[in-house]
Amino acid sequence: MTDLTFKPKFGYEEWTEEKIKKVFEFAEGYRKFISECKTERKVVGWVEGKAKEVGYGKLESVRGVKGAKRAKVYGVNREKAIILGQFGKRPLSQGARLVLAHIDSPRIDLKLQPLYEEEKIAWLKTHYYGGIKKYQWTATPLAIYGVVVLENGRKIQIEIGDKPEDPVFVITDLLPHLSKKQMEKKLEEAIEAEEMNVVVGSMPTKIRDSKSEIQNKEEKKETVKLGVLEWLNKNYGIKEEDLISADLEIVPAGQAKDLGFDRSLIGGYGQDDRICAYTAVQALLEVKDPEYTNIVVLVDKEETGSESTTGALSNFIPDFISEMLYLQTGKHDENNLRDCLSLSKAISADVTVGFDPDYKDVFDPKNTARIGAGIVLEKYTGRRGKAETNEATAEYLAEIRNIFNKNKVLWQTGGLGKVDLGGGGTIAMFLARYNMDVVDAGPPLLSMHSPFEISSKVDLYSCFEGYKAFLNF
Ligand code: MN
Ligand code: MN
Repeated sequence: MTDLTFKPKFGYEEWTEEKIKKVFEFAEGYRKFISECKTERKVVGWVEGKAKEVGYGKLESVRGVKGAKRAKVYGVNREKAIILGQFGKRPLSQGARLVLAHIDSPRIDLKLQPLYEEEKIAWLKTHYYGGIKKYQWTATPLAIYGVVVLENGRKIQIEIGDKPEDPVFVITDLLPHLSKKQMEKKLEEAIEAEEMNVVVGSMPTKIRDSKSEIQNKEEKKETVKLGVLEWLNKNYGIKEEDLISADLEIVPAGQAKDLGFDRSLIGGYGQDDRICAYTAVQALLEVKDPEYTNIVVLVDKEETGSESTTGALSNFIPDFISEMLYLQTGKHDENNLRDCLSLSKAISADVTVGFDPDYKDVFDPKNTARIGAGIVLEKYTGRRGKAETNEATAEYLAEIRNIFNKNKVLWQTGGLGKVDLGGGGTIAMFLARYNMDVVDAGPPLLSMHSPFEISSKVDLYSCFEGYKAFLNF
């Protein structure tokens, strides 16, 4: 008799040893990727490199090239967002298949005037980015990544904290012996944003000679800050004012790791949402000769609401598709673009919460994804009474699960915990504005938004298989 029930299946129970071996091999590449790509700029650089290797050309440079109609093209937006497009057998005007993920992750940014000295220690003032639990970021080694752009436009790359010989940075925490009052505070208030200052030095400047007594007296107040500025100047040519035009991000230092005796899981920073970025790109690179045009979009700023030039709400996405249409039709046509967008189908590839038995209270156990049970199809996300979400239609969900089932993709359903407790959104709702069918599908994580998020290699691989099946259909 056919089984009438629907329950999650677990990859490590269902899959053959041979398949699990393949899954572990795939996970090696991913672990390396998230260890190396801890900022959106790093991801864009990595993806652009991969794309070029397999014959993708920058969209502008493809225009007019013979055979461009079937070319693979990409576009980069301000080094922080990237779109890859591969033309299908059908004209793009019939719609595309899109997988979209975000490549920004919760972190600690620097304020515009970050550097100061107090008690002979140099510190950087910070401004956290995205939803973090502040206490998770104290007393743990941190790295600094990003760019400082000098007044003349020269761009200085900074990456300190992840190479074995590198120093690291840290936000201090109070010793338990004196924490009686702090421990009585609510978790949310125990560490305040203005207390999240990063230790960056303690050695005073040595340069005194050529200066007057008065200057020396004046500068003695901040000799440690000066010491840091001198170091920055010597190594990068940076002055204090240059820090105003910078994108500097503080992220956890250290590599992502296999997790558990059996190495079945992966622990590391930034898996929301680089796990989807990685699997989407790998899926696209494996699809040969698709029926419909395949597009993978990696955007910035999801964690802060998708605004800004590099976020999902920028015109970058429709503009890129418009340029792809131009390659095929030879003209820019607004109606043609709108038709194409509304005929397209999309997966908003983003992570969701995995059931954590230590915190049973917040979940509806029947409607929460399980770690290791595959890619999670979510009809909607949002808050409370389905606010701030995209809700996929029944018809579209039927289509997607049909694709997954046909291709033997391990999948499950999920949601963001008990209805009244909170919630969250993804970029799906912004795509729906183009009248495009879109549904959320990504892996479940434990300790989401923490400096050390946990995923299952099964779910990683299921996302790869799921996105590949979708792009191919
Ligand atoms: Mn996300
Ligand atoms: Mn997130």
